[in-house]
Amino acid sequence: MPPWETDALMPIQDLNDLLASPDGVQFLESQDIVLDQNNFVKRLTAPAQAGFIEAYGATHPKPVYALQQVYIDCTRSMLDRMLLLEWLEQQEDCFPFFLWIDTDLAGTDALMQRFFWPLFGKRASVRFSAGSNDPLELRSIPIDPSRVEQALEKLNTYLSQSITGRKKVTRARAKERYEQLKAVFLQHKSGVLSELNHSVTYFLLNHHAGLNPFSVLVSDLLDRDLITAEVNLYLNHIDDVITVFNHAVQTLHERDIDPKVRPLAEDYLPLNFSCLDCSRRLRLRREVQDQDVFAVATCRCQNQYRFHLGNHRLSIDEIVEAGPWSPDVSLTLFMKDFVSGYIGGGSSGIYYGLVMKDVLEKVLQKRRVPILLARPTRADDDPEAFDSLLYSYLMNHTGKHLGQTSGHFSVCSPSG
Ligand SMILES: [Zn+2]
Repeated sequence: MPPWETDALMPIQDLNDLLASPDGVQFLESQDIVLDQNNFVKRLTAPAQAGFIEAYGATHPKPVYALQQVYIDCTRSMLDRMLLLEWLEQQEDCFPFFLWIDTDLAGTDALMQRFFWPLFGKRASVRFSAGSNDPLELRSIPIDPSRVEQALEKLNTYLSQSITGRKKVTRARAKERYEQLKAVFLQHKSGVLSELNHSVTYFLLNHHAGLNPFSVLVSDLLDRDLITAEVNLYLNHIDDVITVFNHAVQTLHERDIDPKVRPLAEDYLPLNFSCLDCSRRLRLRREVQDQDVFAVATCRCQNQYRFHLGNHRLSIDEIVEAGPWSPDVSLTLFMKDFVSGYIGGGSSGIYYGLVMKDVLEKVLQKRRVPILLARPTRADDDPEAFDSLLYSYLMNHTGKHLGQTSGHFSVCSPSG
């Protein structure tokens, strides 16, 4: 049957459809995915392991987090989640933090290497890192100061065009803000892109949103060896993980819910390794030879990697020793024992949460932590609200822009 006929016969539900129906909301609640902040807080329990709390000196016993790639800018969706984290700070026992993914492929999401500016009804792109960096992790890309300077000049031109005709005092204020932002960019003459992005984002958050979420970088989690044991545990059950994961994907399909994740291949491993010569990130595949299991990858530069994972008890020790590795989207699963809850946007992370709940319960006999869904606070059709904190900062937008009220972001009061 052609796909359009399938669609016509069986409407596939996505997250918004689920949220729009009482049955859908009930289904999500049965999966420990809730919309109500108080309901969420009631579900939180202390984490199974104290590793994170000890490593980061958490002042309260229930860590709760949201995550995102380290962008150069902040989107409304990120701010929505940060506002929830801020609200959680006031709740007893909670230790909210933001987990910044600096180990993602730079080419997978535009905002890691560029920001946008609204111009003549369009979205102009300002790129500050070369396209040849797309196959690298953000933490491996060296800052190119001349490229950053070019991007700043372009931004200055766009800003001038946007404030033409405004009052003199408004124009002067915008230029003052531009100079402050420029100084933050230019502090980074060397180092890697994730550091530049992190600085700019926190400058905007602090100076324009009045937010300062406790920051944790994925590369730092890896350096502290925090999740390695969890990865090893997962590896030792990898066949069952793949079976249950794929079955859960199938079950969602049967419920007419779009799982938004693909079934896992037989040689799947949740691991990436960055080439020691060219830094290209490589997805590791599983290869079994008699009793021995290997993680293998071949780089375009012809380098070949083959790590012995073991024969009976598998471990990633050899990979960790060799160099920069990173987990794939299973990261949230490796975090589960160290945290009490997770704040998700309406992204595929939620679907992953649905599928992973099965994997955790059926294969590892563990509980996936409760998820609080951040509801968007801005109507997508508001033409004046350009989804960029950088833009909002330079244009000194307050009020409805990015949900700001009287110089500080407001959070919807919790219901129930
Ligand atoms: Zn290479």
